[in-house]
Amino acid sequence: MATTSNTKKADAKKAASKKKSSSAQKSSSPANAGAGKGDSLLQEYFVESLQDIYYAEKAITKALPKMMEAATSEELIGAFDDHLSVTEEQITRLEQVFESIGEKAKGKKCEAIEGLIKESESIIKDTDDGTATRDVGLIMAGQKVEHYEIATYGGLVQLAQTLGYEEAAQLLQTTLDEEKETDELLTTIAENNVNYEASEENQA
Ligand code: FE
Ligand code: FE
Ligand code: FE
Repeated sequence: MATTSNTKKADAKKAASKKKSSSAQKSSSPANAGAGKGDSLLQEYFVESLQDIYYAEKAITKALPKMMEAATSEELIGAFDDHLSVTEEQITRLEQVFESIGEKAKGKKCEAIEGLIKESESIIKDTDDGTATRDVGLIMAGQKVEHYEIATYGGLVQLAQTLGYEEAAQLLQTTLDEEKETDELLTTIAENNVNYEASEENQA
């Protein structure tokens, strides 16, 4: 079994390096010489990914008030409230990123965030108002959103660096740090009170 997977791995590696060398050839071909990074497929992918997270951040600003309203723990409500302001700043920051690379800020539907928000809505529907159990669900839903953002911004920082967009990379890094902080805060809230309280709740 190990041999098969190793062979597969080697094949995949070979294919990947083949691809790599052909794209390297492409970018050094005379037709592309001096065209800059503005025309590359990676550049296009970068812009599309920015549009995706721009859409997602806007969707999050609509979801957070509902999560706040459904939550019980004051600490959790405060965390969602703070993150709503932070998210609004992140939207402005993304507009700066678009501007810094000479692109117009626009959103493109992000299916992942739609799904994550739907999940948080069904958690609210399936749990009782005023319970710590619902708060546990809301914290997990919130953390899934943060993890999606962490993965996205982490990738975007790397792409911005690869494409030579220093300013964009720094702006995206700031947001990445904020998402990580929020994720950690939610973990702390769960560990401090909410999880224990929920463990004491019984079915009616
Ligand atoms: Fe965000
Ligand atoms: Fe997405
Ligand atoms: Fe966030």
